[in-house]
Parts: sequence; C-alpha cells; structure tokens
Amino acid sequence: MIIGVTGGKGGTGKSTVATALAVELAKTKKILLADMDVECPNDHLILSIKKKEIKKIEQRIPEFDLSKCSKCGICGTVCKTKAIVSIKDKEPIFIPEQCNGCGACFITCPVKAISWDKKEIGKIYSGKNYRVDFISGELKIREPVSEFIVDEIKELIEKIKKNYDFIILDTAAGTHCDVISSLDYCNNVLAITEPSPLGMHDVELIIKLCLKLKKPFEVILNRYEKENEHIITKMLKKYNKKIFARIPYKKEIMEQYSKGVPIEDESIKKITEIIKNGYN
Ligand code: SF4
Ligand code: SF4
Repeated sequence: MIIGVTGGKGGTGKSTVATALAVELAKTKKILLADMDVECPNDHLILSIKKKEIKKIEQRIPEFDLSKCSKCGICGTVCKTKAIVSIKDKEPIFIPEQCNGCGACFITCPVKAISWDKKEIGKIYSGKNYRVDFISGELKIREPVSEFIVDEIKELIEKIKKNYDFIILDTAAGTHCDVISSLDYCNNVLAITEPSPLGMHDVELIIKLCLKLKKPFEVILNRYEKENEHIITKMLKKYNKKIFARIPYKKEIMEQYSKGVPIEDESIKKITEIIKNGYN
C-alpha cells in the first residue's frame, strides 16, 4: 500500500509525522519512505540518514548552431519561459536555467539550427536507518522543473514496491503539480494539519484535491489541543468526515522535534496500528 502524507501548508508537521510513522511501522513491517519534497527534502535529517547518490537526473535543453541561424527571432517568441532572448537580425541568447525542455524552439526553428543537449537538474539518493529504507530526490537550485525528479522517484518505486508492506510518500506542501503527481500515485492520503484558521483553510484545499483525484483521505490533527479542534471538526462536517487521529501538543513531542529525531508517542503507535489493520 502506498500512503501519501501531505499538508496544505508548510510547517504543519508533515515530515515529522511521515518519519515517525515510517519508524514505528518499520518495527514490524517492511517500509520504504520516499521524500517527494524535492525542492526542500529533510526526512534524511530527521532520520539521521547518510544519503548515497544513486542517479543523476538530466533534462533536455536546446543547443544552438549559430552558423545555421538565420536570426529570424522565432525561437524567442515561442519560448514561454523566457529562456531565449532573441531580437530579429540578432543571434538568440539562451538562458539554460529557465529552460523546461518543452521543445517549442526546436520544432519551430525554420532552418533546423537547434538540436538537443542535456543539463543535470538534480539527483536521486537512497539510504537506510531505523530499519526504514529511504529514497529522496533533490532539485538543483534555480532549476524550474521539479516534476522530472518526482517522476523519476515514482519510476524507481514502481520497480521495487513489491518488496514492501507499506510505502510512505512524504509530499511537498501545497497543491501544486508535484503534490498532485505524488498523491495521484498513492492508494490513500493522510493530510496533516493543525488547529488554526490557516491550517483549516489549507487542509480543505488538500481535501478538495483528494476528492478530485478520487483518493481516499483522512485528516490527522497535529499539535492537538481540545479547545482548538472545533476549527477543523466544523470544516470536516461539510465533507462528512471526522478527525482520523490527533497528535497532542505536548512538551515531550516538542523536545524530540527540536532535537531533530523521529517522534515517539502513543498517538503515533495508535495510527500505525490502524494502518496495519487496513483502515480503508
Ligand atoms: S525547449 Fe522550450 S523552454 Fe527551453 S528554450 Fe526551447 S522553447 Fe524555451
Ligand atoms: S528560430 Fe532558429 S533561425 Fe530563428 S533565431 Fe532561433 S535559432 Fe536562429
């Protein structure tokens, strides 16, 4: 089973919960944890994993043969990411960092002055600790297309998923393309939120996304305090849902969190028991 751990906004404790669940489940099950937050991966830090590079990820980019270029300026006008600056009767200037490899310039160049080259946009890593097998991707700074890294991790998981009882995908925050791509690959989604108006607003976006993707989902309330949970329960009623689990706001958890170690708590044990018994 592939479980997506996600959150509408950063800072709700998504990675904290994903790593804690992975460690607890790994005590009795075969677990793979994939950090899909390729722009800001941090699960390896919480799990003290020494990452090993297993693959470089490349993306195609255009290469210009200026000896063939007629200086028509067309490539600059079709490039939506502004990776080509072209002025009629001048040679085009290419800015590789802004190129997403769409191919529009390659297709439209009237004199076939453009061919394909490659650039490295990121890496895939693996590691292991706490009996948790781990993979993660990392997008290079200033690279615009993180989907390629997310797709590569999914391809890798596809090859090895039969070896695991549970695969946990710790997604990026928000509802952008990477998150959609990760959640679409899951069987179930656990949306992590906190009892605040912002937490309520952002987890509702995740709920709407799960409904669109037709993915079963549950909401875990992190930093739970009795007096504030109504903020989330009221919104969940609209979707005929209740809070699936609560992780309390308490000193012991905060201390573990600030030490950067996987949190251990009764609430995490309870959630893993429900997962092991098949909650959907
Ligand atoms: S491949 Fe697409 S994004 Fe890259 S330079 Fe050409 S038109 Fe622009
Ligand atoms: S479209 Fe081709 S010919 Fe025209 S400016 Fe670009 S590279 Fe040169």
